[in-house]
Amino acid sequence: MLTADQERLDCFMIGLKRRNPSEPEFAQAVYEVALDVIPFIRLNPIYEENRVLERLTEPDRVLIFRVNWEDDKGNMRANRGYRVQQSNAIGPYKGGIRFHRDVQLDTLKFLAFEQTFKNSLTGLPMGGAKGGADFNPKGKSEREVMRFCQRFMSVLARHIGPNTDVPAGDIGVGAREVSYMFGQYKHMVNEFTGVLTGKGLSFGGSLIRTEATGYGTVYMLENMLRYHAQGLDGKVALVSGSGNVAQYSVEKLTELGAKVVTMSDSSGTIYDPDGINEDKLSYIKELKNIRRGRIAEYAEHYKVEFHEKSRPWIIPCDLAVPCATQNEISGKEAKNMIKNGCIAVAEGANMPTVQDGVDAYLAAGIFYAPSKAANAGGVAVSGLEMTQNSMRMSWSRDELDRRLHAIMQEIHDKCVQYGKENGKVNYRKGANIAGFIRVADALVSCGNI
Ligand code: NDP
Repeated sequence: MLTADQERLDCFMIGLKRRNPSEPEFAQAVYEVALDVIPFIRLNPIYEENRVLERLTEPDRVLIFRVNWEDDKGNMRANRGYRVQQSNAIGPYKGGIRFHRDVQLDTLKFLAFEQTFKNSLTGLPMGGAKGGADFNPKGKSEREVMRFCQRFMSVLARHIGPNTDVPAGDIGVGAREVSYMFGQYKHMVNEFTGVLTGKGLSFGGSLIRTEATGYGTVYMLENMLRYHAQGLDGKVALVSGSGNVAQYSVEKLTELGAKVVTMSDSSGTIYDPDGINEDKLSYIKELKNIRRGRIAEYAEHYKVEFHEKSRPWIIPCDLAVPCATQNEISGKEAKNMIKNGCIAVAEGANMPTVQDGVDAYLAAGIFYAPSKAANAGGVAVSGLEMTQNSMRMSWSRDELDRRLHAIMQEIHDKCVQYGKENGKVNYRKGANIAGFIRVADALVSCGNI
């Protein structure tokens, strides 16, 4: 990086941190984008003249609201709900809702910022947003979850709409929660519209949406390996998490010939050296989606190792596909994976690698697909769900898988187009610049609003 760019970056980050104190995740996400975008802006002064980076790092609006609900014992409970509407430069706000004990504004601002670039990369007309609540779904009854979703939506409804803001799921929010929220919205506004994606199939949901983020992550990994004359067949992969993204990443990795040896949850990691095959994955799906149990039960059932309170990254592998949460791979763990022979990382989770870790991937020259490119398949199929809802029709599974494949290929190719440097591809740079250009051009064209 040129000294002038470094100085501009430092100065920009000082201002950003001053305006957003105590928001380290938001600052981390902005820094990772600004690193690549600031040199690009120097070469394209129209973006500087229009203060595009400053505008993109300030959300259009942030909504914070109280959610009152009643538990099964009749006690009144209060949680905090949020919606960060980051940018609608290229389409209605779009992004998931997260229910997790640790949800706070910092996390949602980083996710909404990332979402804006990711949605741009898909080529579809979707702006960026994220929302959620510090509601912990663990241990809650079905009825408590339903009541919380209804109360959450009773406040959010007035701020969203099919042409305004279209939420979806994320951690702690799957088809069940999306459907409860959709039911409440429909009840309140007396309209059947595509206001949420990830709905049940019988009332406007799209085929492949459940699988899309995991499948898309593996398609991105496959594209990246193929571009470098390699393949998935016979490779040993580490996957973290055991929720939606992890399950369908494992499914596709296995189908394409890789051997997945780990999965995890917040209590620890299971290590199955024989590989998590189709039958074992069915067990995980039943354990996690129906019984809502802990991953340690897999270790007991299949007599394999359970590493309590630890993450997968100490185990030797060829490929790593983190699918749990942000900052789940430290710099030390990234370096350890590289030392142990890892040749590629595709991020199913959002920003799972800390900055030092990303630096280590790039310095070692391993193939690294950052989350905004790798996991864009989920929101891409959400975009296709919006299209199907508007047209009042449904595409087949094959048609949607074909479209998902094509979108992931286009994202890969854009990363190559903008990320080539010194005979290699820097996918982080490619994704950041390609995602930025589309949103930035829209901001410039629409004027000073
Ligand atoms: P789920 O709620 O289905 O699964 C989350 C998984 O991650 C669970 O196994 C959970 O374990 C684990 N996890 C969550 N927090 C932590 C933590 N602090 N430490 C260790 N493990 C943790 O969520 P998704 O699969 O939907 O989301 C996973 C990631 O993928 C997130 O980063 C999300 O933003 C991203 N993503 C999701 C998309 C989607 O379509 N669903 C789209 C794009 C990105 P436990 O059950 O013990 O909490």
